[in-house]
Amino acid sequence: MFQIKNYINGEFVPPNSGCYLDNFNPAEGEVYSQIPDSDASDVELAVQAAKAAFPAWSSLTREERSQHMLNVSRRISERLDELAAAESTDNGKPLWLAKKVDIPRASDNFKFFATAILHDSSELHDTDGLYLNYTLRQPIGVAGCISPWNLPLYLFTWKIAPALASGNTVVAKPSEVTPMTAYLLSEICDEVGFPKGVLNIVHGLGAKVGSAMTEHPDVPIISFTGGTETGKTIARTAAPMFKKLSLELGGKNPNIIFDDCDLENALRTSLNSSFANQGQICLCGSRMYVQRGIYEEFKTRFVAEVKKLKVGNPKADDVKLGAVVSKPHFDKILSYIALAKEEGGTVLCGGKPAETDMNGWFIEPTVIEGLAETCRTNQEEIFGPVVTIQPFDTEEEVLQYANGTQYGLASTVWTSDLTKAHRVAAQLHTGIVWVNCWLVRDLRTPFGGVKNSGVGREGGWEALRFFTEPKNVCIPLS
Ligand code: NAD
Repeated sequence: MFQIKNYINGEFVPPNSGCYLDNFNPAEGEVYSQIPDSDASDVELAVQAAKAAFPAWSSLTREERSQHMLNVSRRISERLDELAAAESTDNGKPLWLAKKVDIPRASDNFKFFATAILHDSSELHDTDGLYLNYTLRQPIGVAGCISPWNLPLYLFTWKIAPALASGNTVVAKPSEVTPMTAYLLSEICDEVGFPKGVLNIVHGLGAKVGSAMTEHPDVPIISFTGGTETGKTIARTAAPMFKKLSLELGGKNPNIIFDDCDLENALRTSLNSSFANQGQICLCGSRMYVQRGIYEEFKTRFVAEVKKLKVGNPKADDVKLGAVVSKPHFDKILSYIALAKEEGGTVLCGGKPAETDMNGWFIEPTVIEGLAETCRTNQEEIFGPVVTIQPFDTEEEVLQYANGTQYGLASTVWTSDLTKAHRVAAQLHTGIVWVNCWLVRDLRTPFGGVKNSGVGREGGWEALRFFTEPKNVCIPLS
């Protein structure tokens, strides 16, 4: 069986423990490869390699660094088909989605930040004509990047690319559930002659590898995307060392549909925003609020469309939902559907494992009605193909519902009243608001959440600011 290796100092190396973990194909429900069960000693080697590579990498000109990164971007694009197939097999997501979105975005992440550093600038302040203040933005050192399983290469490169572009070297850990495209990225680095030690990839469990990175005194900055509880653990560990942290965490995103909206567009996009990637995107809307005047019509038409969504073999072109990522996650989603029923919800469609010709973990897209705002189903992140739907009467009421969870990542608003759109957007407690659209992710825009959805922002200049330390230099003008 194929065994993935760690990538440390430009070499493919086995874990020091000699032990491996099984890696599953969730559509088949079978082990198809193995990943290193690495520990703190492997992280130590990676950190030492990254430390040693830092002086040379951070001293390159921006053009030189940019060129190295463009080489990676180009090679990701050249290997699109193979990377997309690997992502689909590892994660269960439809192949067409990986080909259209995940892998092109991974290439774009490298290209965007390779280009952005060529146009970067810093502050300059003239103090009363007597002094000049300017800000140097310097790389920090060894950056730790830890990513989740839902958009594996997309989010892995979203962290690594700005960290490298800013002149840091990196120790990165992909999710142990979806390691394959991170491994292929290390192959790509090798192929294009990426400088040794600049990017190091260590595979394994979060509790061993992730925590060793967080605890390491020579990793002063951590970019993490994952669950809120893991984020809290990382924050607690990093606090005594005053590490710089960016934590992109869970969500329970409201999708607010006013009765003056373009109904066709709201219906079509809500299908996507509810069930894309099997509902396993942190930005998916999971709580739908529909204004009473159109509630019955919207609900009936929405449920009818949901029933048509094809679930099955992720490699088939006409499949809309593939497998969910793992057996534990499959069980978790089904347990939430059972909980919703206990809490008084009515399942309008779905609600059970999907019947397919495969042996893996498939769940029908599910819509649930009739739940109280405060119940667990409406408060906790399910992260699967499950949405709740409920009516509302007034703007004030829906804002209270929308803002009434511990999370604050993203929200969507549907209305044809521009004034209302501005007013509601300003009052939503989320880091991102989409009006009459969803998941438009311009790489230049700030990305992140509030409340228990995280701290810090990534994306565009925010990412370059996060991965650099500002230093003010003050010089008399005469
Ligand atoms: P997770 O928190 O279980 O794992 C994320 C990563 O952290 C993995 O690589 C894991 O190995 C590692 N990890 C686990 N324990 C660790 C520890 N103690 N120290 C350091 N690292 C550790 O999350 P997941 O199940 O992989 O991903 C799903 C979650 O990610 C959902 O909550 C989802 O909302 C969130 N997510 C958020 C965003 C965002 O941008 N806000 C994007 C995607 C996913």
